[in-house]
Amino acid sequence: MLTSIVGINWGDEGKGRMVDLLSERQDVVVRYQGGNNAGHTVINEKGKFVLNLLPSGILREDKVNVMGNGMVVDIEHLNKEIARLKEAGIVITPDNLKISDKAVVCCPFNVMQDCLEEDRLADKRFGSTRRGIAPIYADKYMKKAIRMGDILHPEYLKSRLETIVEWKNLTIAGSYGAKPYTVEGMLEWFEKYGAPLKDFIIDTGYYLNRALDEGKRVMLEAQLGALRDIDFGIYPYTTSSSTITAYGPVGAGIPNRKVENAIGVMKAYSTCVGEGPFTAEMFGKEAEELRQAGGEYGAATGRPRRVGGFDVVASRYGCMVQAANEIALTKLDILDGMKKIPVCVSYEIDGVSTSEFPSGEALNKAKPNIIYLDGWNSPTTECRKYEELPLNARKYIEFIEEQVGCNIKYISVGASREAIIIR
Ligand code: GDP
Repeated sequence: MLTSIVGINWGDEGKGRMVDLLSERQDVVVRYQGGNNAGHTVINEKGKFVLNLLPSGILREDKVNVMGNGMVVDIEHLNKEIARLKEAGIVITPDNLKISDKAVVCCPFNVMQDCLEEDRLADKRFGSTRRGIAPIYADKYMKKAIRMGDILHPEYLKSRLETIVEWKNLTIAGSYGAKPYTVEGMLEWFEKYGAPLKDFIIDTGYYLNRALDEGKRVMLEAQLGALRDIDFGIYPYTTSSSTITAYGPVGAGIPNRKVENAIGVMKAYSTCVGEGPFTAEMFGKEAEELRQAGGEYGAATGRPRRVGGFDVVASRYGCMVQAANEIALTKLDILDGMKKIPVCVSYEIDGVSTSEFPSGEALNKAKPNIIYLDGWNSPTTECRKYEELPLNARKYIEFIEEQVGCNIKYISVGASREAIIIR
């Protein structure tokens, strides 16, 4: 059985929290795209954890976790993330963590290139997380990336580095005038951070195919959301990889398999980190209150997130792009104190109303049509049954469910594992 958990919005929907909860019924959890540019926050009985690279199933003892070929892996960061979790008592061995030999390594010069370019762009910057993600995905498609499997073959790794470092210095030193990298320096880096990972590197595609043949339950865990997808998101303010359900099997290494259950994680209001069009954005005091109530500061970067009302147009599109067959609605409790709750029900572009999510300049021009639903003004965080929710909270949920056209099965009313309503 292959299930995916994907983001319906701009990311930060609470996917980590949902994977942590739903992985109880799974055998294997797989990350299939992205790198350490995003952070999944998970709170459970062991404490609070921010995961950047490791699949969220790592926090459950009996799960196998796979980092798929679609990922880009900063091995220095991964070593530190593993060490941090081990210190907190989490067991991580080659039995419960497997890294694809085809995943590519995000190197220090990729991080440097990302920073140099953001600095060059100055006030036109993209709001990159400066973790080298766009440069390493570009290198992958230029066929000038090191793959995790290369770490197992030192002579081959050296010959690849000789080609790649020379080429990369044309940009780093030649174009930006920064200090060039050396092959020796990079070999040392790989020795320091690659060697400890050797036992984790396998052909994870064969591993996953075997697991599925044996009837194991495999869950694909996305990073970021539909609106950050490289093709379908708010380009160019997207991430550099495919965040969608359809890419899941490719990025996991099981393109011969179909996702049977796609759970879309959708937030009860909107948030967006960084630059780019964000039609339902709220400003001023109202926005600041929502930001504070929701703790809306980036898990990976600490940046304050932009906030807005629930966006029907963007979320309906997100459900379509993700092929979601059920929804987990998160952070409902954050709206507990709001008297009137704004919802963006359509966009207006050059005087014409639309319910379809536009792209490019049309999206830049879009203005929100906002309606207000009545708030419920009482805490929901202790509710465990749908009927226990205040009437107006149920009305709110049923309104957005009807608008996005997808069944809301899970309602999250708090950050902890048990703060969930299953309908
Ligand atoms: P992800 O990247 O999609 O996993 O999302 P983040 O981890 O960036 O953001 C989700 C944040 O909201 C985390 O701090 C979670 O602990 C928290 N969270 C998730 N669901 C809920 C919820 O229903 N209520 C509240 N109050 N917090 C939640």
